Amino acid sequence: MNTFHDLGLNEDLLKAITDMGFEKPSEVQDKAIPILLEEDTDLVALAQTGTGKTAAFGFPMLQKIDSSSRTTQGLILSPTRELCIQITNELKLYGKYCKGLNVAAIYGGASITDQAREVKRGAQVIVATPGRMKDMISRRLVDITKIEYAVLDEADEMLNMGFKEDITEILSHTPEDKNTWLFSATMPKEVARIAKKFMFEPQEITVGHKNEGSKNVSHEYFLVNSRDRYQALKRLADANPDIFSVIFCRTKRDTQRVAENLIEDGYSAGAIHGDLSQNQRDIVMKQFRTKQIQMLVATDVAARGIDVDNITHVINYQLPDEIETYTHRSGRTGRAGKTGVSMVIVSKSEVRKIKSIERIIKKQFEKKPIPNGMEICEIQLMSLANKIHDTEINHEIDPYLESINQLFEETTKDELIKKFFSVEFTRFFNYYNKAKDLNSSAEHSSSRDGGKNSSNAARYFINVGEKDGFDWMKLKDFLKDNLALGKDDIFKVDVKETFSFFNTEKEHQERVIEYFTDFKENGRFVNVEITENRGGGRGGRDRGRRRDGRKGGGDRKRRFSGSKENNEGRRSRRNDRDKSEFKTTHARPRRSRRRD
Ligand code: ADP
Ligand code: MG
Repeated sequence: MNTFHDLGLNEDLLKAITDMGFEKPSEVQDKAIPILLEEDTDLVALAQTGTGKTAAFGFPMLQKIDSSSRTTQGLILSPTRELCIQITNELKLYGKYCKGLNVAAIYGGASITDQAREVKRGAQVIVATPGRMKDMISRRLVDITKIEYAVLDEADEMLNMGFKEDITEILSHTPEDKNTWLFSATMPKEVARIAKKFMFEPQEITVGHKNEGSKNVSHEYFLVNSRDRYQALKRLADANPDIFSVIFCRTKRDTQRVAENLIEDGYSAGAIHGDLSQNQRDIVMKQFRTKQIQMLVATDVAARGIDVDNITHVINYQLPDEIETYTHRSGRTGRAGKTGVSMVIVSKSEVRKIKSIERIIKKQFEKKPIPNGMEICEIQLMSLANKIHDTEINHEIDPYLESINQLFEETTKDELIKKFFSVEFTRFFNYYNKAKDLNSSAEHSSSRDGGKNSSNAARYFINVGEKDGFDWMKLKDFLKDNLALGKDDIFKVDVKETFSFFNTEKEHQERVIEYFTDFKENGRFVNVEITENRGGGRGGRDRGRRRDGRKGGGDRKRRFSGSKENNEGRRSRRNDRDKSEFKTTHARPRRSRRRD
């Protein structure tokens, strides 16, 4: 294997490389750097995430550009803001001894004037997301007509995100004879097409096998009923007390919801997705990097390419729509020679996807059971014991030792240990003491009523729905908080557009009805009534739902809109206001609570 020196890098770069502690080139660097330094060629490089692609194009680019000139010579397009910032920071580190070098980052959600100023200072290299780049070109805030090198980083992801047109548009402003370097983890057809369209006889290098995941990652799946997904996630987290993980959800909404629930349940979690502001995302990423957050719940797009070391677990809360995406997800762990685990929570209907993924990653999944309550208690107990054993003693405590000793004069060591552990452990024990088995067996269709006997349940209609900013979790929270009931006391919450249904045990019926008699939320009547209950709702799945929709729902809906019509004159304005007020009510910060 070559050293960085052998690859032909200059002194300025070698010094920075030493500072960064890179000892030898990674495989993609070893293959790409000599080609890019010596030849004026287009290049397609396929390598997994975490293989050092940034330096593979960054080192040659920095060496080849003229940093005494103020002309923009290099353009790097990357799919997300996070990645754009990350690449910019890396390049600044690589180029810290290159005199006069300016690298500008251009991405949405931040001040365009500030970015234009950065460019104007004479940025030889611009790192950009396609959307903002296009914007800046049309406003003539950048000039890329003289660039010599264009990099398409994470090309597969940029195309996935629908940036094809933007990329085409941007590249149309660049010179014909530039070199284009395309870096990608996978090579779907669209990438091949882009390569063909924008590149001239590109050289191709591949590191590892195309579409194959890291060797250091083991893959596990857990079969549960889909309504138990969240509980299963909590158990996986509890069974791994030192977890440092990225949890992938399919949508922004699920991402936000899962993170909120985790936080509410006492975990150190955070969300990152496209609906958050740049500032919010920066804060969350910083907390994650510094391990203030143990669990980062993310969408694929937001987490793409994010480079955080030492991630122990990737958890697929839901499988991605595109199976290829699984490779990217699992590539977040098992980096830098460390081992990692990629876990997938699946329901029965998704099990066949596991087989398809196995074919792509050329590795077998291990089917594992969700740990039961007592197993988790044991793990937590031993983890606590180890932590205490390894704790360095804080001698600030010494002056108080005498009075503490007095207090425990009569207590034996055994007793003391037991008491000590009980402080922390009882919480877990109480929570998991009667916890049910979450494992779904593929053979029998399990009861879906969450252990609630539907004949003993009351089903209610309530005249708020999606239009008022509710989803089922929010409605459940709203009911739980108002009625001072526990999480499990409200179930089968089914939110429709303008109205919803939910169940409680019959014993709570009176209290629910009473509470919502003449109940107003922000000036609006919230009406709750018992519906004809045939054990419907979520439990009966589609059949039950349809029945509700027709029977109860149909005429309830009419009733509700009827009452709106009474206020026809003020209707639209009032409704708008009501809606927004509902939203703010539910957007309030959640009380921090323990796990139970
Ligand atoms: P990719 O773009 O392929 O996902 P990155 O370029 O983000 O990978 O690199 C992943 C991490 O590895 C970064 O933290 C980077 O600083 C580090 N890295 C890159 N090259 C080397 C090397 N030769 N030796 C050690 N660490 C490296
Ligand atoms: Mg990268």
